[in-house]
Amino acid sequence: MRIVLRHHPSYQITDISDEDAAALKRWYANEADDEDDAAALAVIRTAAARDGWIECDCIDGPVRPLMYPRRDEHVYTLVRMTRAADDPQARFDRPSHAENCPFFSEKTFEGSATDKKFMLRPMPPKPTAYFDPLPALAENIADRSRKPPSTNSGRSDRPSALGIQLWRLLHAARQNVVAPLQLRPETTASITSHLRDLRLAARNFNVVRTTSLARLLSTWPADFFDARSRWQRNIQSVPNWPASARPTGFMIIAAKLITDSKIYPLALPGFIEVVSRVRRPLRGDLKSCGPYLVLVNFDRGDDDDSPLRPVQAYAQPVHALDTMIPVESDFERDVLNLLLWAQLVFLKAAPRIEIRITKPLFALSTADGYCRPDFILDISVDGRHRRRLIIEALGFDTPEYEGQKAVTLPRMKLIGPLFEIHPPDLVDAMSLKTGRRLTGWIIDQS
Ligand SMILES: [Zn+2]
Repeated sequence: MRIVLRHHPSYQITDISDEDAAALKRWYANEADDEDDAAALAVIRTAAARDGWIECDCIDGPVRPLMYPRRDEHVYTLVRMTRAADDPQARFDRPSHAENCPFFSEKTFEGSATDKKFMLRPMPPKPTAYFDPLPALAENIADRSRKPPSTNSGRSDRPSALGIQLWRLLHAARQNVVAPLQLRPETTASITSHLRDLRLAARNFNVVRTTSLARLLSTWPADFFDARSRWQRNIQSVPNWPASARPTGFMIIAAKLITDSKIYPLALPGFIEVVSRVRRPLRGDLKSCGPYLVLVNFDRGDDDDSPLRPVQAYAQPVHALDTMIPVESDFERDVLNLLLWAQLVFLKAAPRIEIRITKPLFALSTADGYCRPDFILDISVDGRHRRRLIIEALGFDTPEYEGQKAVTLPRMKLIGPLFEIHPPDLVDAMSLKTGRRLTGWIIDQS
């Protein structure tokens, strides 16, 4: 990659070293460690300071994909130039990035190749009640020389920082737990009640020392378009933003559909367009991966009086909008359907046996290390906890995935007996048989 002169991309300002180019790609693909962040920032700053564009090397030829650095007060972003929207010269021969390039932008609902191989590493829960105001590439992260180099080998599966924040909130609101049917009140949960639970949980997180997340969090998409909304006024009125953070707000949106940069809220016609790419875990068929619960982070750009803009977003697929149980793929959604069916079977046929379903969002610690089972069943008999069972939805058969499972499955077995479900188990002809196998296994274990 290289830095070329703005408006004259055939003129090279400086070359970008292979190491720096790789760091820049990892940063954009959300796979960066601190060192990468610093290197990426240095490249972007150089381009901005020398009035340059960044030319990608993912394709050969005389004209190559270009990006320009955009600087807001504390944050640099890199904007991909496309012929139609951003290229001031409206070059007809402006190519887009190669499909395997992290900067590749897809106009359909397909994820990039980088995101598709993204496996979520088990992350331990963060032991603080502090919600990072704006976990983005910021101007003040350049000074990282005092830090020891990272020895982290599993960087390819680091979840998005904003995603971790959303999981913390879902976890705190127990949105990832399905209580036994025997214990559930008659009233049916709705989207509204789930969003209310999330707002309540947000009271226990602080964005800055004296301001709770609940104050800066909206679950009503129309607030974004209304500068006089209470939410926008709350963001404006926080008196003590630290120097390292900028005034920021959060929104949780129930969405049926997302694209590369747009979120289509359920409660609003139209969409909200995010400045950067909407992050999401990508597995299986992305066209049918929704619905989603999306955490969006807003700020005001350079000027405190400018309108709020959505700067980044993380979309968590959920089972359905009226249950809002997080899942990672369509296949996990099918597996969860089977578990919900099993709950019902036991309620009717063996009501003494209660099943609590948990979708762990964070890693569990075992004697051999961390793991994150796909689902956990807590089985109680006559109200007394009897057994913890692990359900693994083994949706892939790539060597990478199998290698990862070879490590984590033995750890899961330290937590409890393990039941594996593979995609062929849930095709129509097999699902009833699998259901019987599962319920028989649960009875054997309890
Ligand atoms: Zn590229």
